[in-house]
Amino acid sequence: MNRDLLALSGQYFDLLVIGGGIFGAAVARDAALRGLRVALIEKSDFASGTSSRTSKLIHGGFRYLQQRDFRLVFESCRERHILQQTAPHLVRPLPFLFPIYEGGEISLTTLRLGMSLYDWLALRRNVAPHQTLSVERTLMNEPSLSRKGLRGAVAFYDCQEDDARFCIDHILHVSELGASCINYCSLTGLITREDRIVAARVRDEVGLCTFEISARVFVNATGPWVEQVCGLTPFDAGAVRLSPAKGVHLVVPRLTRQHAIAFQARSDHRILFVIPWGDYSLLGTTDTNFGGDPAQARVEQAEIDYLSAEARAIFPDAPLSDSDVITTTVGVRSVAASALASPSARSREHRVVRTGRNLLSIIGGKYTTHRVIAQQTVDATYGLLGVAAPPCRTAEVLVPNRRPAAAGEKISEAPKVHASDIIHACQQEMVVTLEDVMRRRTPLALSRAGGPEVASTVAHLMAPLMNWSSDEERSQFERYVEEWKRSLP
Ligand SMILES: Cc1cc2nc3c(=O)[nH]c(=O)nc-3n(C[C@H](O)[C@H](O)[C@H](O)COP(=O)(O)OP(=O)(O)OC[C@H]3O[C@@H](n4cnc5c(N)ncnc54)[C@H](O)[C@@H]3O)c2cc1C
Repeated sequence: MNRDLLALSGQYFDLLVIGGGIFGAAVARDAALRGLRVALIEKSDFASGTSSRTSKLIHGGFRYLQQRDFRLVFESCRERHILQQTAPHLVRPLPFLFPIYEGGEISLTTLRLGMSLYDWLALRRNVAPHQTLSVERTLMNEPSLSRKGLRGAVAFYDCQEDDARFCIDHILHVSELGASCINYCSLTGLITREDRIVAARVRDEVGLCTFEISARVFVNATGPWVEQVCGLTPFDAGAVRLSPAKGVHLVVPRLTRQHAIAFQARSDHRILFVIPWGDYSLLGTTDTNFGGDPAQARVEQAEIDYLSAEARAIFPDAPLSDSDVITTTVGVRSVAASALASPSARSREHRVVRTGRNLLSIIGGKYTTHRVIAQQTVDATYGLLGVAAPPCRTAEVLVPNRRPAAAGEKISEAPKVHASDIIHACQQEMVVTLEDVMRRRTPLALSRAGGPEVASTVAHLMAPLMNWSSDEERSQFERYVEEWKRSLP
């Protein structure tokens, strides 16, 4: 697939989507499925923002029951069910245990009541209803949990996904539907006439040329950058206000047999997760106010200490020292501004806000609800176009799985990545850098195979496919390794 920039500058689109995270990808897909002429630009790689830095759950969000946000739980449970049907290769049921310990804020009785409500709000669309487990059955399922003070557990199901892969598969589908999706292409300005935007000024970050894209409606799906994009217009964007929150995960050696664990942190009573991730576990997440540039968010030692201390309290024998941490991730969440001081207490509800005549900005939301957010955004787009909206089709149309069967030399055992995966990614999946392949076309970066040894093999394999000179191959390798080192404690 080529970077067809001419196709972008020479046409007049119905809709230009700014941002290639899951919300932008889902808006573009929904619009293209309904027949709109769509283009999407992404300043870095697709999914390189928050959408590859999540807990990788498609979940009903039982913790929102604490906030009595029943509408969001209901909507999330419905979406979880739809995504299992439309993207079965990406969204899989994940068994959870929520162990309860003496002295915690949540009792087993309260948890059981909450989980009954969770089942009820899922309207039988969950994988299986919850169960209460005795101490013995809890430990039989997950023997590495601490016995000390254990009162029992509740077993339930949510779903797991590979977030980066999910977003990339959406983008590939949008492209197959005839839309133009270009990564490494930044919005730098918006050209307005009276109260309308008429064109976007963009910069190709690969060729370093600038050009304009004309469209009738513009969707600002830039997640934590949404205010910055609104700031490029002369319109009053007072309703587009965020209180961004930063979230950190640690990738550690596998802590459980088969379950994800939800548990209450002892220090601040927040709910944390230990999630199986191939041969590893993802441990997270923190949730703290963040005021800087989302691209510069970094993991702090205090965040690593907090997560490992909390996990050690329920997995006393687990390898959780700094040298056991395989890597870390950090993402910034777009959360609508609120008077509540604690980011965890702020609603994950989304809003689609119009500024000027034809700019729609998406604020808040969660990965799980991307489909319905996209549906509402495309409905609003039709409203601005002054045309009746055809029915949304994303609750029925499958997200295609175009990956080839594994073939050829194995690049790594855990996760299993073959040379054929790298070749396919370079030829078919709009790859520009080594980092794109290591982090978002394969899960290599989030594993023990994320270091220099495998990266150099992958760079060497990519070089002839990407027409890289030996200098460019070395520079790609060095840039990736520098970023990889930053994610180590
Ligand atoms: C730590 C953490 C854990 C989470 N876990 C979960 C979970 O398990 N389940 C769940 O449902 N939700 C989860 N979420 C929420 C979920 O990640 C987000 O709701 C979702 O990823 C938001 O997607 P997005 O497309 O809005 O943002 P992003 O993925 O950040 O995409 C925005 C894109 O816009 C691009 N962009 C910015 N400026 C420009 C510009 N000028 N020109 C062009 N492009 C631009 C950026 O490069 C970026 O790629 C989590 C969030 C965090 C932070």
